[in-house]
Amino acid sequence: MAKIAVIGLSGQSIFMHLDDFPIPSVTTHVKSYYEEPGGKGYNQAVACNKLGCNVSYLSRIGNDYYGKYCKEYMESLDIKTFFIKDLEEKTALATILISKNGENEVVVYPGASKNLNDEDLGIFKEEIYDADVLLLQYETNIDILKKAISIAKEAKIVTILNPAPAIYDDQNILESVDILTPNLEEAKKLYCLPYHINIDDMGKYLAKKVRNILIITLGDKGCLLVKDKKYKYYPAFKVKALDTTGAGDIFNAAFATMIAKENSIDKAIRYAMAAAALSVTKPYVINSIPNNDEICKFLKLYNLKQKY
Ligand code: ADP
Repeated sequence: MAKIAVIGLSGQSIFMHLDDFPIPSVTTHVKSYYEEPGGKGYNQAVACNKLGCNVSYLSRIGNDYYGKYCKEYMESLDIKTFFIKDLEEKTALATILISKNGENEVVVYPGASKNLNDEDLGIFKEEIYDADVLLLQYETNIDILKKAISIAKEAKIVTILNPAPAIYDDQNILESVDILTPNLEEAKKLYCLPYHINIDDMGKYLAKKVRNILIITLGDKGCLLVKDKKYKYYPAFKVKALDTTGAGDIFNAAFATMIAKENSIDKAIRYAMAAAALSVTKPYVINSIPNNDEICKFLKLYNLKQKY
C-alpha cells in the first residue's frame, strides 16, 4: 500500500456559526458551535488515511484534554502516530468563524506544535525513509521542516509542501521541495504577485520563475498548475458550497494520495479537485472528507471516466 509521512499541527478546532463576521468593539453572539480535532497536517493525515494510504504522523501536543483527544481520535483510525507530549506548552487551538455565506475566518494558537525538535524528528526518520511521499505544511517549526525535507531527499521520496499559512517566505525551502501547493493568497505573498492579477498573467509570470511543480489552488475557480516552464488552468467542479473550511487540506491529501499511488500530476489534480469539491458540500473538515468511492462516482458524473 502507498505510504505517506505527514508532519503537522494537531489541536482542537472550534467552529462558530454566525450571520456576519464581528466588527471591533461589538460583541457578536453565534448561532451554534461544533468541535473536532484538526490542524492542517492533522486533517491531511486523516484524509490520506480515509483515501486508502498507509499514514505515519508526527506532531507535538500539550499535556491536556485537547491533546489527549487529538491522540485518541487519530489512534482510533489506522494511522501510525507519533504524538510527542510537551510539558511546557498547551495543545494548539483554533477558532473558525463561519458566516452565513459559508466564508471562514480562522485564528490559531499553535502551542506545542511550534516546539517540534530534532529529537522528535529523529524518532520519525525511519517513517520518512519508508514512505512514498512526505507531506508538510507551515504550521510547525521551519527548521524541522527543512531537516525533514533533507531526509526525504536522501530517501529519494516525493516532497509536497503546502506552504500554509504563508508565514515564512524562505525561498530556499520553497525551491527545495518537489511540489508546492499554496492557495491564491499564499501564492501572492510567497511570489510577491500583485493583488489584482488574472490567472493567465500569473501563469505566464510563474512559468518563467518556478523550477519545481507549483499548484495554486483558487477556491471555487479551481487551480493553476505550473510545471516545466508551462502552465495549465483547471476550472473547479461546480457544486453548492456549504462550508469551504479545510478544502485545501482535502485537496492536498487527495493529491498526495494519488502521487503516492504513482498517478500522473494531471490525474492527481482532477481527483484532488473532486475530493475538495465534495468536501465543501458538507460542514466542517474531518466530517466532510469523502471516500474514494464517492470521489470516483463524482468524477464519473462529470464524464471523466478514468479508472482510479
Ligand atoms: P484553501 O482551503 O487552502 O484556501 P482553496 O480555497 O483554494 O484552498 O480550495 C482548494 C481546492 O478546493 C480548490 O482548488 C478547488 O478545487 C476546491 N474548492 C474550493 N472551494 C470550492 C467551491 N466553492 N466549489 C468547488 N470546488 C472548490
